[in-house]
Amino acid sequence: MAESEFCPEKDELIRSIDYRPPDKPWMETKPVFKKGTYCFAAREKHLAYLGFPNPREWEVGAEDWQLPENWKEIFIAGMEDRLKRFRSFRLFMDICVRCGACADKCHFFIGGGDPKNMPVLRAELLRSIYRRYFTWPGKILGKLVGARDLDYDVLKEIFYYAFQCTECRRCSVFCPYGIDTCEITMMARELLVSLGCHVAWTIEPVANCQRTGNHLGIMPHAFKETFDFLTDDIYDVTGIKIETPINQKGADILFVAPSGDYFGTEGTYTCEGYLILFEYLRRKYGLTYTWSAYAGEGGNFGMFTSNEAQKRLSAKIYAEAKRLGVKWIIGGECGHMWRDKHQYMDTMNGPADFLEEPVNPITGTKFENAKSTKMIHICEFTADLIRHGKLDLDPSRNDHLIVTFHDSCNPARAMGLFEEPRYIIRNVCNNFYEMPENTIREKTFCCSGGAGVGSDEFMEMRMRGGICRANAVKYVHDKYGVNRLLCICAIDRATLAAMMEYWVPEVDVGGIHELVANALVFPGEKSRDTDLRGLPLKKPIKGREEGEMEE
Ligand code: SF4
Ligand code: SF4
Repeated sequence: MAESEFCPEKDELIRSIDYRPPDKPWMETKPVFKKGTYCFAAREKHLAYLGFPNPREWEVGAEDWQLPENWKEIFIAGMEDRLKRFRSFRLFMDICVRCGACADKCHFFIGGGDPKNMPVLRAELLRSIYRRYFTWPGKILGKLVGARDLDYDVLKEIFYYAFQCTECRRCSVFCPYGIDTCEITMMARELLVSLGCHVAWTIEPVANCQRTGNHLGIMPHAFKETFDFLTDDIYDVTGIKIETPINQKGADILFVAPSGDYFGTEGTYTCEGYLILFEYLRRKYGLTYTWSAYAGEGGNFGMFTSNEAQKRLSAKIYAEAKRLGVKWIIGGECGHMWRDKHQYMDTMNGPADFLEEPVNPITGTKFENAKSTKMIHICEFTADLIRHGKLDLDPSRNDHLIVTFHDSCNPARAMGLFEEPRYIIRNVCNNFYEMPENTIREKTFCCSGGAGVGSDEFMEMRMRGGICRANAVKYVHDKYGVNRLLCICAIDRATLAAMMEYWVPEVDVGGIHELVANALVFPGEKSRDTDLRGLPLKKPIKGREEGEMEE
């Protein structure tokens, strides 16, 4: 349960939401590092492994963060360097007119009332430093023009709020100037990591992924064993024997999923969905694909750390595609992976001229949008197969589910992937209801655990930030009886599950490809009366009997 030393009981949480401004001006109001509102500090061994500065054991709640003596110079020099390298950063520092259009758009502000969780004020924390050290009015007039000195308290405040931003970019949708507060948070986090100040839940996956190719540090033999477990489960439920190609050279397609899909509780059903779909396509159309044990992670927590860390991790995907000699790449149901792959990977590590422009070998569809990245989303692929009548689907097999769809922030706002997931859902399920318009598509609300803050010790903030999404789910649950919240992100599948348990326990969480696999009429499948996760079906499936099972 979410209620713990890190999260109050829900009535208490609701009572504590307070939109009244604090008594003192914002520059004089200091954050309180209360349990449940911050993530634990990055560990020395992981910082050291990554070669990040100032590795040490330290605590966020401690007085002394054991910073380097010249920490202020490092921070200001780092800021100067980034203002030169990233034009967007300087622009975002300069052009905010404080119109306030973003002020009430952040889930953390809505769920708590802390003014520094208004995107405009969150950005002002860093902007005040920019003014003081990089503008003449700020140098001369100081506080009069919103400039302030960088001191220890200010640094702690920047840390506190940089890790209370999930880089979801909802606020940027409403900004008339297109200011992307997520990018300001990214810069703040880069500057913090230059002092060795980051959070464990981000840095450990970055270190693991660099070492082994996935967030959990799973070695290749364990990677294979995991898939053996999943295919055994699929055989038990469906009677279908799955071949799982791993590190197979010469396959048409490299498939990369977030590790949450093969290790996370709700995620494994999505992963089973991919496995069943690809097996179906192999048998019926001769499609060849492969997983990779070395580039086995679609997610990229480097993105929540620094540009350099992000580049290192995303390079693995192209390197592995080259080594295996595939034609192009499909990525799984992940969230921030799609900001990384769609908007950064090609620029950081491309051009990937050794790959072909993605063409679906079964339908002939050319994915023009992926001309440059050579990588498409599994939902684009599956929607294309359905549109061309290549899958034998029986949506009534999902009649026990009444679903709604949560647009995950990055596929929605960074990719514009709105229609394909909905098209798939409508073809595999008869009961689909949308949440209110201002909570979906580009205006979707964050799961509140993205950008590397999905840890248990951050639970109070996660549940506060989750009020908006949970409220919309409750609306469709009460009105239509929705009992499943679908999403296309592995972090969502983990964090929304906790959020639902806390706010709307009648609703569970899952991925879309789990429903695709439920609905897929698979030649040779066995008779059964449950779906992939063992829930009873409305109508039993008639297939082979025990004695006629596949060998
Ligand atoms: S909406 Fe844009 S310009 Fe207006 S206050 Fe927010 S960041 Fe500044
Ligand atoms: S990016 Fe998301 S979490 Fe960050 S300030 Fe904007 S709305 Fe809030």
